[in-house]
Amino acid sequence: MRRLSALFSKTLRDDPADAELASHRLLVRAGYIRRVAPGIFTWLPLGLDVLRRIEAVVREEMEAIGGQEVLFPALVPKEHYATTGRWETYGESLFRLRDRRGGDYLLAPTHEELFTNLVKGEASSYKDLPLILFQIQTKYRDEARPRAGVLRGREFLMKDSYSFDLDDEGLAGSYRRHREAYQRTFERLGLDYRIVSAVSGAMGGSASEEFLAPSDGGEDTYVSCPSCGYAANIEAAETAVPAASDPGDHPPIQILETPDAPTIATLLAAVRAAGIDVGASATLKNVAFTLHHPDGRTDGRTGGRTETLVVGIPGDRDVDLRRLEANVGGATVQPADLDGDDAPAGLVKGYIGPQGLGAEVRYVVDPLVVTGSEWVTGANQPGRHAAHVVMGRDFHPSGVLPAAEVRAGDPCARCGTGLELARGIEIGHIFQLGRKYTDAFALDVLGPDGKPQRVTMGSYGIGVSRAVAAIAEQSHDDKGLLWPAAVAPADVHVVAVGKGDQMAVATRLAEELEAAGRRVLFDDRGASPGVAFKDAELLGVPMILVVGKGLAGGVVEVRDRRAGTAAEVPVGEAVAFLAGGGGGPIR
Ligand code: ATP
Ligand code: MG
Repeated sequence: MRRLSALFSKTLRDDPADAELASHRLLVRAGYIRRVAPGIFTWLPLGLDVLRRIEAVVREEMEAIGGQEVLFPALVPKEHYATTGRWETYGESLFRLRDRRGGDYLLAPTHEELFTNLVKGEASSYKDLPLILFQIQTKYRDEARPRAGVLRGREFLMKDSYSFDLDDEGLAGSYRRHREAYQRTFERLGLDYRIVSAVSGAMGGSASEEFLAPSDGGEDTYVSCPSCGYAANIEAAETAVPAASDPGDHPPIQILETPDAPTIATLLAAVRAAGIDVGASATLKNVAFTLHHPDGRTDGRTGGRTETLVVGIPGDRDVDLRRLEANVGGATVQPADLDGDDAPAGLVKGYIGPQGLGAEVRYVVDPLVVTGSEWVTGANQPGRHAAHVVMGRDFHPSGVLPAAEVRAGDPCARCGTGLELARGIEIGHIFQLGRKYTDAFALDVLGPDGKPQRVTMGSYGIGVSRAVAAIAEQSHDDKGLLWPAAVAPADVHVVAVGKGDQMAVATRLAEELEAAGRRVLFDDRGASPGVAFKDAELLGVPMILVVGKGLAGGVVEVRDRRAGTAAEVPVGEAVAFLAGGGGGPIR
């Protein structure tokens, strides 16, 4: 039993100055976590308790699908990450360090390389597969924007698992088992979640889905279709696109003088004056970016390749930089500088058109720009635009990249219904990696026919420490935290209001509850009712048992924090009441 009189962590009256999200505010105020540095936190007793309970659920569900637990170090040599190029491509998010002998090390942000290399040394036959290994381990990422307490840390606890299979069918099975294990895990944790299609990004590989906890405080935006159930991270979202048509069937290009048309509205007015009456969605906006591709060199020097990318999107939309960045294969994306000395040749600021761009820039379009579509766009000359510019006739993009913002109401690619947009917190991510890592390490096993066969892999993560914040974000009210029973630091918060009889009876009830298997947090401080109730609400234990004034009449009060209800119960029945249904709702 935990007694508040002796509990190391204390509640705080004031919100931490830097906390924008309720979960962050409440976890600090309730004494669950304390900040050490940006994105680096200490777990205090109650916080550690919640963390460990989440960890236990994750572990159970991983073991239930046959996962075997291992534990890798966080501090690892560069070698294996050099083999895959990630020493370089992971960029500034990687904590790199050097030992006394000058050897390069890193604090691992994820462990694909080490797992692949371990399995290469241990597994030799198809009989060793399928294999699921997992760990619950501290990861390090030098996040650009650590945020919201443990929600986005630079040091954080992750469950990462890796599946090894002989063929694609086996991988699909391991992936499905993980997906189901994650569903069970998040249900048990009391998290509301959505499964959305994701971009595989820097991990490489093919199929990938994210588990998002819907929350306005989340950093991910996702679309969902209220009609067919399609759901995707906005980075991977597909919307219905116009049908392609015959590019031959249009008037010839017409050059328009548009000297004072810096905005879409002034442009449309100038175009209208020339007798062409179109809306903003018929203009093609061409936005120039500088892409830096880390090249995966293994000598530790920063190298890489830089290119200019111009993206064409309908003029009534903005570029969604995250969407673009998620789809350029790990390159970093910056707006191109069109004014400086190094400005790419041929790009006239404000008047870029896709027709006749030089080979030194790569021109791509958003999926909304299709063959046969006709546009008003820049003429690649100062003060001039061009009308009747047709894709497939006047310009031929080298590719298609999702770059335009997706808006609520855009039609679903599958069924045409207007999509809904919402925000969420990424709590889990599952990937079918395929052979990217097994190729890098030449991980083969002998197949049934005695011939070596390349193994195929999946990788799967759950943000264990992030889940603490995600649960808190979804489960709180203005008074404090409201833990789901499965993760709460106690089942019952017993409060003695007053030091005499109340304290004696409360002590006895607390002991009996513990004997009945309930975990008790006992407020034995004899604090004033105001202070005691405020703390109980802040700490967020789901059931509160108050031994107070009613004791004279033989009753105690049981409050259900989550249901927001309270009931008077005869003293003699309190333990049975609370020990029965795990503190079920009070009617
Ligand atoms: P994000 O997009 O939020 O940066 P990610 O896609 O880079 O996350 P993964 O590499 O997929 O993260 O890691 C697996 C899981 O680890 C994530 O789904 C998330 O729950 C958790 N996680 C990732 N980064 C952090 C972090 N900085 N702090 C806490 N948890 C994290
Ligand atoms: Mg992810």
